[in-house]
Amino acid sequence: MSAPSTNPAQHGIGSPLVTAQAQLSEAIEILGYDEGLHQMLATPRREMHVAVPLRRDDGRVVLHSGFRVQHNISRGPGKGGLRYAPTVDIEEVRALAMWMTWKCAVVDVPYGGAKGGVTIDPRGHSAAELERLTRRYTSEISPIIGPERDIMAPDIGTDERTMAWVMDTFSVNRGYTIPAVTTGKPLTIGGSLGRTTATSRGVVHTARAALADAGTDLREVSTAVQGFGKVGSHAARFLHETGARVNAVSDQYGGVHAPDGLDVPALLEHVAATGSVVDFADADPIDNADLLALDVDVLVPAAVEGVIDAETARTVKARWVVEGANGPTTAEGDRLLAERGVQVVPDILANAGGVVVSYFEWVQANQAYWWTEHEIEERLEHRMLSSYRSVAALARAEGISLRDAALVIGVRRVAEAHLVRGLYP
Ligand code: GLU
Repeated sequence: MSAPSTNPAQHGIGSPLVTAQAQLSEAIEILGYDEGLHQMLATPRREMHVAVPLRRDDGRVVLHSGFRVQHNISRGPGKGGLRYAPTVDIEEVRALAMWMTWKCAVVDVPYGGAKGGVTIDPRGHSAAELERLTRRYTSEISPIIGPERDIMAPDIGTDERTMAWVMDTFSVNRGYTIPAVTTGKPLTIGGSLGRTTATSRGVVHTARAALADAGTDLREVSTAVQGFGKVGSHAARFLHETGARVNAVSDQYGGVHAPDGLDVPALLEHVAATGSVVDFADADPIDNADLLALDVDVLVPAAVEGVIDAETARTVKARWVVEGANGPTTAEGDRLLAERGVQVVPDILANAGGVVVSYFEWVQANQAYWWTEHEIEERLEHRMLSSYRSVAALARAEGISLRDAALVIGVRRVAEAHLVRGLYP
């Protein structure tokens, strides 16, 4: 079995599950739901723990832990990503699955919430090893997934190639091609135009709307982006294309800072050539803690959970935090940001663009009819802005934060679906 997680931030106070449960409790209190309903919404509907033996290229067999958690399926099939990281454990996957439930409900796509993970560092493995691992994991969880049951997508450590292996393994075992079991697939096998950039586009759409509500134009602000992967790199690019200044970015190896703004297209070329933002010319090095504390207008945490906590929240100088990652702010971090008047556009709204276009991909696969890029981008923007407006209107009307408003809308939609269907058997 691979070594258990040693990430101290993962357990106890500030752990993703503690944060997710604290957020739910807050929403339940505002909604006035009883303890029975609270417990039901706090507890995953179904979990599968699987052993994933991997034959390494040198012939050794190493056992990894795999999980798939279906937090809620009242509004439709489970939906959510598959994460490969050494820190993955059941608690993290539970938290991520719960966030998917509220996220799908906030943007009103007809899904519940799910998440999968395997405790492995993909960087230490060949493509052939990752393919064998993915196929074995998919075979193990295959009884509980499918286009009407639970639909997978990429997350940290996985990509469209991983989704092709999942789709192929599932299809071969059923005896026919079933594209809608995953989203975020390559275009050649039923992926959707616009899916790879969807999360980042959604981040920028919601950021623009939140700033406009405060009378500020996104084109005139300075920004810092933590994380330069699937979400952060495109978010930095779109911010730059919009006209905003991107003053700093970071990845897992380090960060770069340029007070007058980074040349983002040149930075993207540097990353394509070297694999990291580190050592980019015309910029100073900056570490992750200093990036979070930069004096910029907008901070976009787009990496992992729990980075804005009781300690770092005190140092944040940005006026807006737009959460590209899932769960980047702990409950205590959130309280401190609110105290300091920082406006947070919460993850379940800000980063929902990915699952919105996943939904479009699933619809297209089910109909075997493909939309144009223009149709997808237009529908994505419309869905993000209408969701933002509902959340902002509730926040204003009730005098609550955007996070609480998003949670209230998401939790209420799920509870209503459950109550109208009734408890059976
Ligand atoms: N992993 C992404 C997320 O956390 C995408 C999920 C999906 O498209 O199903 O939102």
